[in-house]
Amino acid sequence: MTTPAYEDDNIFAKILRGEIPAVKLYEDDDTLAFMDVMPQAPGHLLVIPKSPSRNLLDADPDTLAKTIPVVQKLAKAAKTAFGADGVFIAQFNEPAAGQTVFHLHFHVIPRHDGQDLKPHTGGMEDVKVLQANAEKIRAAL
Ligand code: AMP
Repeated sequence: MTTPAYEDDNIFAKILRGEIPAVKLYEDDDTLAFMDVMPQAPGHLLVIPKSPSRNLLDADPDTLAKTIPVVQKLAKAAKTAFGADGVFIAQFNEPAAGQTVFHLHFHVIPRHDGQDLKPHTGGMEDVKVLQANAEKIRAAL
């Protein structure tokens, strides 16, 4: 089966166009990083390329080459900000693999020894908590 076409009514495209808010962490010409509204652990953030692709399967390799260094940058900052023991990077392709938003994104999740993750797309976090956690990550960038 081929990858379906990109559709620009997805929620991350709306964030990129400024149509809905996001708790932003980092932005450059090619990428944006912001807090995940349903964090699986404190500090859970997302990194997205600005150029449109549905997921990894239809992404331009040049886009990936620009995005991964930003994933690394945010992973280091999130690890420092939360004193984490490790960082989990996740990326889902198509509904069968758990993808729910169809604009390529990388999850960056600080991990602590012995602490389980909350479920994927579980409960919404209070925006004040997201803002406080974002402040810690920005300070570590
Ligand atoms: P997935 O497509 O399965 O990799 O997951 C999409 C992720 O986007 C989930 O972790 C959601 O919590 C998150 N999410 C959905 N809507 C928003 C939003 N408006 N702002 C930030 N994160 C979101």
